Amino acid sequence: MAESKPTLQAAPLKAFPGLEDPVTGAQYTGGFPTFTAKHKSAMARLLTKEIYDKYANTKSECGVTLDMCIKTGVDSPHLGIGITAGDESCYETFKDIFYPVITDWHGFNPATDTHKRDLDASNLVFDEETAALFNKHVVSTRIRAARSLRGHFLTSSATDDDRAAVEAKLKNIFETNFTGEMAGKYYSLGDLTDEQKKELRDNGFLFQMPKKTNCLYFSGAANNWPHGRGIFHNNDKTFLAWVNEEDHCRIISMSTDGDVMSVFKRFALASNTFEKHAEIMFANNLGFIGTCASNLGTGLRASVMVKLPNFNKNLELLEECCKTMDLQPRGSAGEHTEAIGGKFDISNKQRIGFTEVQLVQKMIDGVKKLIAWEAMLADGNVDGVKAAAGLA
Ligand code: ADP
Ligand code: MG
Repeated sequence: MAESKPTLQAAPLKAFPGLEDPVTGAQYTGGFPTFTAKHKSAMARLLTKEIYDKYANTKSECGVTLDMCIKTGVDSPHLGIGITAGDESCYETFKDIFYPVITDWHGFNPATDTHKRDLDASNLVFDEETAALFNKHVVSTRIRAARSLRGHFLTSSATDDDRAAVEAKLKNIFETNFTGEMAGKYYSLGDLTDEQKKELRDNGFLFQMPKKTNCLYFSGAANNWPHGRGIFHNNDKTFLAWVNEEDHCRIISMSTDGDVMSVFKRFALASNTFEKHAEIMFANNLGFIGTCASNLGTGLRASVMVKLPNFNKNLELLEECCKTMDLQPRGSAGEHTEAIGGKFDISNKQRIGFTEVQLVQKMIDGVKKLIAWEAMLADGNVDGVKAAAGLA
């Protein structure tokens, strides 16, 4: 499907209406930012006045400025990345800041490294013993990836018209080209009742309302909510797609057990089907392109919900153990939430520089260890866990 070059033009940056005030006081509207000790993002650490000044009059293909890209990190000091892209070209246009941020976060240098892909489930090692272990301890499994449609703004710079155009394209792709077990229906977020939304959210199917703590909030991606947002899912809710949340699209494969293999196969089918029918933002040195630099590359997050009540009493240890295995723990209802009843969402932290298979494998191998260490903690063996994790 050939598409013409974008003719979009971003509006000048101003405070976005309808948002709560940032912890910094007022929303950022441009200029070299005043960073405080609380600004800990890679962007805040790496953006020098020299880099800022270099881009003072630079605009990306769709007219996005550096001010627009860094707004999220200036207004939300706690963020880890602190920079979003408003269109596909931002990563290149402002590469003096984007590349170092990507290297800092992912350990991958887009100036010299090439991203690799592998969606072949037969390359995954998930033997019967592991499958049995997962089915015993894992409550549910989810693999998602971000995908963006070429020729549009990314969500942080989207105008209402362009957001609606992205939604219409995606609705058509999912309702027309996803057939068999993947067939389903698109639901506009604005049309769902509060009850429907609650039910979907309680089961981990639907994204949250944008919160002040999320990177999308002050970036512009939460503008005019819920306009143009929605969810597609098949009957069984084993394949879902989010539309215009943080990214144009998140394709999601889920199951209510620990069968990572089946979830990965369905994910690969969804990814391949989607790619056949959409022109997707992709570059060899960046992989799949999304709004936040944390989701470049595979854009893939493979997670399991697993009960770790003893780790829940020692969150610092869980963080440290996960870190040694390149994993990230999240709470029961997503990023920045509590682990209710000790139920954690454990996923791969990296997205780029590794193939899809490698990242899912890291999650499988790491979760196996966490399950074993949780049993050691139940016996009070904290030192044993530290030694096993190489922390002692
Ligand atoms: P992402 O950014 O990957 O979409 P979030 O942290 O925003 O993830 O979480 C999105 C939703 O998906 C949340 O409701 C979360 O509880 C749910 N979720 C994540 N992993 C799983 C899983 N393995 N099983 C069930 N629900 C999950
Ligand atoms: Mg998210």
